[in-house]
Amino acid sequence: MTTPVSGPSLAAPALVDAHIHPDKTTWGTPWQSRKPAQTLAELIQNDRDAEFDTSTEERAHALLSNAVANGTLAMRAHVDVASHIGVDNVVAVRAAADRLAPFLTVQIVAFPQFGLLTNSGTLEMMRESLNVGADLVGGIDPAGVDGDVEGHLDAVFGLAGEAGRDVDIHLHDGGDVGLMQIREIARRTVGLGMQGRVTIGHAFAACDTSLPRLRETLDRVAEAGVWLTTCALGPDPVPDLDLFEQHGVRLALGSDGVRDSWSPFGTGSMVDRAHLLGYRTGALTDADLERCYRLASTAGGELLGVPDLARWAGPGFDTRLEFEANSIAQLVVDRPAPRRVIRRGVNYTG
Ligand SMILES: [Zn+2]
Repeated sequence: MTTPVSGPSLAAPALVDAHIHPDKTTWGTPWQSRKPAQTLAELIQNDRDAEFDTSTEERAHALLSNAVANGTLAMRAHVDVASHIGVDNVVAVRAAADRLAPFLTVQIVAFPQFGLLTNSGTLEMMRESLNVGADLVGGIDPAGVDGDVEGHLDAVFGLAGEAGRDVDIHLHDGGDVGLMQIREIARRTVGLGMQGRVTIGHAFAACDTSLPRLRETLDRVAEAGVWLTTCALGPDPVPDLDLFEQHGVRLALGSDGVRDSWSPFGTGSMVDRAHLLGYRTGALTDADLERCYRLASTAGGELLGVPDLARWAGPGFDTRLEFEANSIAQLVVDRPAPRRVIRRGVNYTG
């Protein structure tokens, strides 16, 4: 059965979610009310307290399935690894991802949400996770969560070097302390010859144009080939997209948490997320809106190193989405689901 065509058809690049947390989602389960939280520590505690009736694999699979139906063909999934939960979440998300291969490419980051140095045994679990489905080594706020920038980065880059993996670090820390950590990550990236293989997620400090050392820091990031990812989250700062472009900083867009203990919002649709980025950054022109779509699609494909998602060869390309829309700019505003999702010539039918 084919969907009747009623309006204009637009072929567009497939979408890529550069930063998502499938192990935490409640997708596919009854509505869950959330507890208040003012600080990162309180949000993390809520996460620790979260209880689910269904397995991590089933919840992750429900979210990943919805993402594919909405045109996401690759994602970088940050999955909790800690001494008290072991590597179970990594195994579960990898199993969910395997059920959607080859339509969906999933890279898993071993994410020490609950602290790396401050939660003893976590580094060993991260090392183990690389044998059971994790691809990259993660980190979180070396100063703000672990209180030891050198020690945290020694552990993250040490494990990455030992295992030959790339790095993707969450950095919520703002202000000069945040910028200092961004420069230190860039410095280590160059020193270790890891240009193009290191990502910093959120990087709120890099969104603060009032900081005197911001521009210098963006230059260090660009020189080191460090990627930044943003999720255009409601209460948090977003990058100045023009400034990032002026400094040659490479950026991709992600969902972050989807309907988890951190936020009731999110759908897993990167069209929705491109819309939110456009809204948060005051997009006005078609070029502004098209940039948001590019950050949600080919930029993410380049970050993940997935060839058929990193470039767009035009409407006849065998990996594409087909939307009922007149233009990319319009679809970022209207947020339709794609009529068809096609990867390497095969139509996704769910
Ligand atoms: Zn995150």
